[in-house]
Formats: sequence, C-alpha cells, structure tokens
Amino acid sequence: MRLGVLTSGGDAPGMNAAIRAVVRQADALGHEVYGIYRGYQGLLESDWAPLATRSCANILQRGGTILRTARCPELHHPERRAEAAAKLRKVGIEALVVIGGDGSFRAAEALHREHGIACAGIPGTIDNDLPGTDRTLGFDTALNTAVEAIDRIRDTASSHGRLFLVEVMGRSSGMLAVHTAIACGAEAVLYPESPNDTYESLVSQLHANWIRGKRSSIVVVAEGDGVGNAVGVGERLKRDYGLDLRVVVLGHVQRGGSPSALDRIWGSRWGSEAVRRLVAGERAFYLGEVGGVLAVQPMARILDPHPVPPKDLGALVSVLAR
Ligand code: ADP
Repeated sequence: MRLGVLTSGGDAPGMNAAIRAVVRQADALGHEVYGIYRGYQGLLESDWAPLATRSCANILQRGGTILRTARCPELHHPERRAEAAAKLRKVGIEALVVIGGDGSFRAAEALHREHGIACAGIPGTIDNDLPGTDRTLGFDTALNTAVEAIDRIRDTASSHGRLFLVEVMGRSSGMLAVHTAIACGAEAVLYPESPNDTYESLVSQLHANWIRGKRSSIVVVAEGDGVGNAVGVGERLKRDYGLDLRVVVLGHVQRGGSPSALDRIWGSRWGSEAVRRLVAGERAFYLGEVGGVLAVQPMARILDPHPVPPKDLGALVSVLAR
C-alpha cells in the first residue's frame, strides 16, 4: 500500500516525531510512504517524493516539520478538493496521514466525505483546541517554552517592581494562556473564552494586589483575548492610570524548539497507530489522548465545538495570586 503524509496549518514541535513514526511503522509492515511537501498546497502541485526510512534519521528531536507546511485557501473550494483527490489516485496514494489542527482535519473530513479518500488525523497544533483529545502535538513544548520565558521576565519584573503584560499564542483558544498562567504564577490571565475577565476586572485585580503589597505583576494575555491584545491592554492601562508597564509578545518563539519528551512520545505513538489502522482498512479517523489513554475519534468529530479551558483553572490563577 502507498500512503501519503503531510503537515498542514501552523507548525508544531513533535510533527517530525509523527512523520518518522509513520515512515518507519509503514516500512516495518512492508508499505511505502510518500512525503507531501507544504501541506495541501504541495498536494495540489504534486510536490511529493517517497520517504525512505533512513531519511527520518535525526529528526525526532527537531522542531518544525521536515515536510514544511503551508496554508492553502484554495482547498475550501470543492472543485480544488476534487482535483486533490484525483492527483492522489493518479499517483497511487491510497490513504493520507494528515498532521495538523482543526482546519487541516476539516479538509481531510471533506476529502473523505466527498471523494472517499482514506484519512487519518494526527493532532498537531500548539493551541490544544481539538475536540476529543486532551493533547495535541506541540502544546506541551510551547507551554514549557512560554513558562521558561516568563520565569526570566519575572526576575526583572520583581527587581523593578513593574507590571508586565505577556502575550502568548492562541487566537481563538485560551488553553495555552491559562496553563501558562498557572505554571508561571501569573497575577491574572485574559483569554478569549472568558467573557467575565474584562478590563475593569483586571484593573480591580491589579489594584487589590497593590493594596496587599505586591509591587510587580505578570498578566498573561492570549493573542485573541476578548479585551484586546497585550499591546492594546497595555496602552489603555498606561493612558488611564499612567502605569510604568512593559509589554512582551512571545510570538513565534513558542512555536519553535526541540519537542518535549511527551510530544515526542505521542507523536511516535500516533504516527504508528495511524499507519496500523489505515493498513487494516480504517478510513476516516483521528487520534487523540483521553485520560492518558490513546483514543480514536471519527474524523467527523472535528466538526464538534472546540473544548474550552477548564473554568476552575482561570479562577485558580486569581486565588493563587494573593
Ligand atoms: P490548522 O490545521 O492548524 O487549523 P488552518 O486552519 O490554517 O490550520 O488549516 C490548514 C489548511 O487546511 C488550510 O490552509 C486549508 O487548506 C485547509 N482547510 C482549513 N479549513 C478547511 C475547510 N473548512 N474545508 C476545507 N479545507 C480547509
């Protein structure tokens, strides 16, 4: 059997571990893998090549994706998906492993529903915002990267008695922000799914901390929070209260770096499982982890609502900031 593997959407540490496992598990079972470069864009351009098991040497510990990735708005059009399916058939790729996030899985779901292409999804996004899995590749690494960066900021914040607003990634998901805030002992967190955390409530929280004698604070802001991004919130605080604050946007440093052990382990397990299920004849599913156990979801589950960060975590940030 000839399988195809692609990485799509935002890159995430751990994707290479999954690619390696796909190639080597297929090899162990006597199947062949084509690497498709630059996600669905490369698929439309027939930009692919066979991936030998030796070509995956020394990639387990590397961030990013050796297959590169891209966004491909054209795939939203049904006629382009028909073209993609025809190209796969022509080259003899019978099943596709898609490593990516919500958008990438939606594309896979459509390719299967409309054209019968067998697809396996491996969750790869630092946002950890897919239904049916507690984990996505890259989240654990990005979380640790953000925490390490904020620990450094904490040193200078407390030395100067300053307020820092630190923006983390997560345009529509507060998962990274909330977990980062707990792990670095932030004084407050702002994220998109938390409509009660307003500018006013942030101000009263910071004020309460000041009264308690806290002279430095760190506020974690998700890039897509409901109040405005970190720069916007910072400007408003400066204008309204003349605060001597600093804004740090962590940006793409969170995406890079060597994957954590957990991201390598799950990338390896999911890569292997995807191949074993596809060669056994399964057609449209994605993998996940639920309660520490490997889980399998029907691909259509990607259309379910996104998980939101556990409410108690947001509340815990302010309790622990006393
Ligand atoms: P992620 O997979 O990280 O969520 P994107 O949302 O950018 O990243 O999606 C990756 C790619 O998947 C898009 O560039 C597009 O080619 C394809 N895609 C996204 N959403 C859909 C959709 N609803 N239907 C078909 N293809 C889609």
